[in-house]
Amino acid sequence: MGTPLGGGGTDNTMNQPATTRPLTIGVLALQGAYEAHAQALTTLGATARLVRLPADLAGLDGLIMPGGESTTMLKFLERLDFFDTLQDFVSATPTFGTCAGAILLARNVEHPAQKSLGVLDITVERNAYGRQIDSTILTAPTSLPGGPLEMVFIRAPRITRTGSHVEILATRDGFPVLVREGHLLAATFHPELSADTRIHQLFIDIIRQQSSPSL
Ligand code: GLN
Repeated sequence: MGTPLGGGGTDNTMNQPATTRPLTIGVLALQGAYEAHAQALTTLGATARLVRLPADLAGLDGLIMPGGESTTMLKFLERLDFFDTLQDFVSATPTFGTCAGAILLARNVEHPAQKSLGVLDITVERNAYGRQIDSTILTAPTSLPGGPLEMVFIRAPRITRTGSHVEILATRDGFPVLVREGHLLAATFHPELSADTRIHQLFIDIIRQQSSPSL
């Protein structure tokens, strides 16, 4: 018996728990580096769906908010009347923000101050590394299994405060660069630009774990 592609049907795969069935993960595609995220998800066996409108969020198991320019993304979100729907979605569904996406998830944004979705209990300082050394590739230790991790920073923000429930998974010069709080994951670098898929795999693991908290 074939696998139904969607709609109707009591054996629709969407009705199976996210612990085992193939996942459909959205990538916010208003602006920025979304294609490489979609590619990384596909490599890991998930289905990637580009999200351009509020309706595109329906039925997703998780969402990646890519790097780019957070101010521009905010303008699109407001113009499309998308901000409130996205805020509700990320409050309840696994979401991974990278760079500008991490800025959008943060509770507080500084330098300059900017509106955000406010769901992840961190403070970020935008463009914190100065003009000359603002884009760099480092290999640094991480608490993830598999040894040191390559990190591509592009006009990166710096996480200057983490709430007590935020777990720090990697640092640069003593500042967190990869953090997790429950169903939310954020990186100030661009994991989609490295060949190492451990961070995207971690996000997939978080989605499966969240749908079955007893695991
Ligand atoms: N500097 C950008 C911002 O403030 C983020 C850069 C990035 O996403 N690579 O939104």
